[in-house]
Amino acid sequence: MPVMPCQRDGKSGFKWGESGFCYLGPTAKAKAARQGAAIHASEMRKDQGLSKLEMLKQRAAIARQFQPKKKLRKKPPRQAEGRGLEAEYYKKILAVIAPYIEEVKTRLIPKLGGIIEQHRAETRLDAYGEVITAAIEDIKLGIAAKIPLSLIKPMVKGQSGAINTFDRAQFNRQIRTVMGIDPIDSDPWTISPTVDSWVEANAALIKNIPDESITRIGTKVRLGVEAGDSLKKMTATVNGELDISKNRAKLIARDQTNKLLGKLTEARQTSIGVTNYIWSTSQDERVRPLHAEREGRVYKWSDPPSDGHPGWPIQCRCRAIPVIEF
Ligand SMILES: [Zn+2]
Repeated sequence: MPVMPCQRDGKSGFKWGESGFCYLGPTAKAKAARQGAAIHASEMRKDQGLSKLEMLKQRAAIARQFQPKKKLRKKPPRQAEGRGLEAEYYKKILAVIAPYIEEVKTRLIPKLGGIIEQHRAETRLDAYGEVITAAIEDIKLGIAAKIPLSLIKPMVKGQSGAINTFDRAQFNRQIRTVMGIDPIDSDPWTISPTVDSWVEANAALIKNIPDESITRIGTKVRLGVEAGDSLKKMTATVNGELDISKNRAKLIARDQTNKLLGKLTEARQTSIGVTNYIWSTSQDERVRPLHAEREGRVYKWSDPPSDGHPGWPIQCRCRAIPVIEF
């Protein structure tokens, strides 16, 4: 139902539909539209069957009457890449595991020469083994004291907030491009549990980086000594393991950022009643062939492909563009 011209007391004004009040003066059009919006809101409340998307469409139709020339697109733009978020998260994870790397460099690497000597001297059969065990246990205690979950979790929680802010802005931009208005509520109730479980899982993943690394280093040092490796080779082995930890941090940052973006996108779109999305890859050489085939195809939120919705498969940077028929 549109805002339409009307006559009252011999003057020209505007009213909402046939039954609306005829407003006069320079703000008449806006007042008529406001009344229209109020009438609609009450009708919507009566009609429980109306989805948020339908409500949005009605609001958008009202808004459009005031900006008929505003260009709207049929298809929303793809969400921007979250590269800055990945880099930021990687830096924060590195800062968290830095004390572990420091422990290995100051408490284990300087002892390697002595351990090798002891093994060569063979004064007592397992003396070198005891030194290794003691050094590893020492570092494990250091990890427990310097990298507790109580330190990791607030960092992860902060990062989830940054990722959520980013996804919300992308979602709002997509809705604005096709409808010309902002969504009513771009933080649906499903977001908190989604974020909370992501925070739990990520804190555990980060905690595991030093825990798993030090166990691997213990095994490798033992094997290296027994194989008669040189100090240079042993030092390189341990440093190599530390690099693996940093790579692990990078993989977690990239993979988990995209996973959360994917989950938030799903929560936001389904919360307003979007049922279908267009699969959108980042269209570069790193896209896996299976996902490249999906570029531009329409999928249902209720029926995910075998490996999951965009962002969910490991290291997937694909996005879901909402299908909004308007
Ligand atoms: Zn993908």
